[in-house]
Amino acid sequence: MNAPVLIDPETGLKVFNTRAAKASEKIVGKGYSVLTDQKLKELPELPAGAIFDAEEQAKYRAFKEARRGAADYMAMEGEFKKYLDDVYSEPPIPREALTDECEILVVGAGFGGLLLWHRLSQAGFTDVRFCEKGGDVGGTWYWNRYPGIACDVESYSYLPLLEEMGYVPSMKFASGFEILEYCQNLAQKFGFYDHCLFHTTVEGTTWDEACGRWIVETDRGDTMRARFVILANGILTTPKLARIAGMEKFQGESFHTSRWNYNIDLRAKRVGIIGTGATAVQAVPELAKIVGQLYVFQRTPSSIDVRDQRATTDEERATWANEPGWARARRARFAKISAGRTAIQANDDYLAGKVPDRKPRKHERELSPEELTQKQLDSNFRIMEQIRARVDAIVKDPKTAAALKPYYPYGCKRPTFHDEYLPAFNLPHVHLVDTAPRGVGEINERGIVQEGVEYPLDVLIYATGFQWMGTSTFNMVTGRGGRTLKEKWESEGTKTFLGLHSHGFPNLFIVTGPQGGGGSFNFTDAIDAHSDYVVWMLRTMRERGARIVDVRKELEDAYAEHCRVVDIATAPLRDCISYYNGEGNAAPGSLAYYGGGRWHKHRIPAQSTLVPYLFEDGDPTVSRATE
Ligand SMILES: Cc1cc2nc3c(=O)[nH]c(=O)nc-3n(C[C@H](O)[C@H](O)[C@H](O)COP(=O)(O)OP(=O)(O)OC[C@H]3O[C@@H](n4cnc5c(N)ncnc54)[C@H](O)[C@@H]3O)c2cc1C
Repeated sequence: MNAPVLIDPETGLKVFNTRAAKASEKIVGKGYSVLTDQKLKELPELPAGAIFDAEEQAKYRAFKEARRGAADYMAMEGEFKKYLDDVYSEPPIPREALTDECEILVVGAGFGGLLLWHRLSQAGFTDVRFCEKGGDVGGTWYWNRYPGIACDVESYSYLPLLEEMGYVPSMKFASGFEILEYCQNLAQKFGFYDHCLFHTTVEGTTWDEACGRWIVETDRGDTMRARFVILANGILTTPKLARIAGMEKFQGESFHTSRWNYNIDLRAKRVGIIGTGATAVQAVPELAKIVGQLYVFQRTPSSIDVRDQRATTDEERATWANEPGWARARRARFAKISAGRTAIQANDDYLAGKVPDRKPRKHERELSPEELTQKQLDSNFRIMEQIRARVDAIVKDPKTAAALKPYYPYGCKRPTFHDEYLPAFNLPHVHLVDTAPRGVGEINERGIVQEGVEYPLDVLIYATGFQWMGTSTFNMVTGRGGRTLKEKWESEGTKTFLGLHSHGFPNLFIVTGPQGGGGSFNFTDAIDAHSDYVVWMLRTMRERGARIVDVRKELEDAYAEHCRVVDIATAPLRDCISYYNGEGNAAPGSLAYYGGGRWHKHRIPAQSTLVPYLFEDGDPTVSRATE
C-alpha cells in the first residue's frame, strides 16, 4: 500500500492516499421500486368543492399553532456522540499531522467538493486540498445509506458531470447507493482522491492578517495554511436528535438514519422509528418488508406525492449517446420551472426539449402581489386536497388515514414522494403511532411510552433529520479582528454577499450556504452556479494580481436586506412550522434564498462591474484597501 502522504516529484505537491475501505459488504441497498399498480402512481381527482376558504384556512392555522414550540432538537453530544461515529468505513488511515501550506483548501467532499475540483483543475488550479470528515466521497450520499434511499430530483438533472463521465443513471430516481458509487467513480476518474484528506474534520479556520492566509486546524492535529478556504460542507450535514425524556435509558439498539447500522439484523425485530420526514418516508416501506413489527412515531405528517419510478429506457440511452450536452440542457430546463411540484414531477417531454417552455400565464388585469399570493395559495390548496384524498384512497383504517393527512401549504415542509409508503400502513405489522402535536413523550429502558401506552422495542431508529443551513464549521470560522462568523451573524443578522462572501472574512467562499441562491429546486444547480462563481473569482484575481478579496459592507447590507424582503414576500407560501424556517423562529432572510432567479440578477452586475469587491495585492506591508 502507498504511504498516506507522498510528494509528486513533478509538481512538488503532496499526494494523499487516505480513502478508507468500506466497513462491511452488508452495506447495500436500493431506492424506489418500479410498481405496476397504476392506482398507486396517480393522484385522485380533485375533490368537489375544494376552496381555500376561511374554514380551511383556520384548519391550517390550528394545525400550525398546535405545533408551535414542540420542536426541541439537540446536538449529538455527550453520551449521544456515539451516534456520529462513521459506521461506513474502516478506521482512519494513520498519518502524520500536516503543518504545511496549500493555495486552496476546501471543506467537504460531496457534490460540492467534487464539482469544485473538476472546475478548479480545469482552470489550472492544482494546489487544492480537500478535508472530509467521512472516509470517502459523496457527502450526503456517503452518510445516508438507509434502506430505500434515493434522490427526489430526477437523477438525469441531479447528478453532476454526467456527460463528462459518459454515464446514464439506471433509474429516473437513482438510489443513494448508485449515487455514492457514481461519486466514487467520478473521484477516481478526475484524480480527486490524490487531493483529499479523509477522516479529517476541520475544527478551526482562522484568518491570519499578518500573512494573508487562513490557518486551518483539524481533529487530526493538522495546522495548515491556505490562501483561500471554500466551505462546501453542505446544508443537511449535521444530524440532530429530538430531545425526549428518558432517551438515555433505552437498553435496546439505537441509531440515527444517517449512520445506519447494518450490523443489526432487523429481521423479525420490533422496530420503532421516530420522525416521518423525507428520510422515514423512504425507509418505512423497506423496513416494512423485513421487520417483525414496525411502529412509526409521527408528530407531523409529510405530504406524500406520487413517485412513479421507472428504469431508464434504451431509447433514452441511445438518444443521449448522440446528444452532447444532453444533461446540461436538461438541468437548464429543469431550472426554469418555478413551481416546486412541477419541477419535482419532472415531465420527460419538457425536460427532453420536446415541448416548448410554458409562457407565464397572463391574467385579465395585473394582480397585486397579495392577489398573486392568494392565487398561488388556492392552487396549492387544490394540490394538497388531492394529496389528502390519496391518503383516504389508499389507507384503509380511517383513524390512521386521518392522522396521515397534512394541513399546510405544499412545499412548506420538504415535500416527499412515494408509492409504497401509504400502502405500508395497511400491513398488519405496521402501526402508526400518532404523537401529534407535541411529539414522543417518553423513552424508557424497554421502548417508547406514549399517552400511557408502552411500545416495547428491540431497535429504535431516529429519523429526526439534520440542522438546516447551520453546518457547524460556520461556527468555527474566525475572520478579521478575531470575530467569528457566528458572532457576526448573531449580532448583525445573517449577512453575506450572494451567500458566497461575508464581509470581514476575506478569501472565504461559502458554497450553498444561507442566502446563496441558484434559482432551482435542484441543489446541483446551486452548487454548479457557485462553483463557476468561485472559479471566476479566482481567475479574476489571478489576472489582476490580487491576492485578497473581501466585499463592501454596504453592498452586503443591501443584499441581506433583499434576502429579507423576498423571504417576507413569499412567507405565506411557507406558513407552517418547518426546518426551512428554523421551526418558525428564523429571522426572515437568514436561511435559504427565496428570490429564485433574481440571485443571478445580483450576481451578473457584480461580476461585470466588480464594484462589490475589495481587492488587495496581499502583501502585508501594503496597507489594506480603503472602503
Ligand atoms: C437524504 C437526503 C436526500 C437528498 N435528496 C436530494 C435531492 O433529491 N435533490 C436535491 O437537490 N438535493 C437533495 N438533498 C440535498 C443534498 O444535500 C444536496 O443535493 C447535495 O448532495 C449537497 O452536496 P454538498 O457537497 O453541498 O454537501 P454534502 O453532500 O452535505 O457534503 C458536505 C460534506 O462536508 C463534510 N463536512 C462537513 N463539515 C465538515 C468539517 N468541519 N470538516 C470536514 N468535512 C466536513 C461532510 O462530512 C460532507 O461529506 C438531499 C439531502 C439528504 C440529506
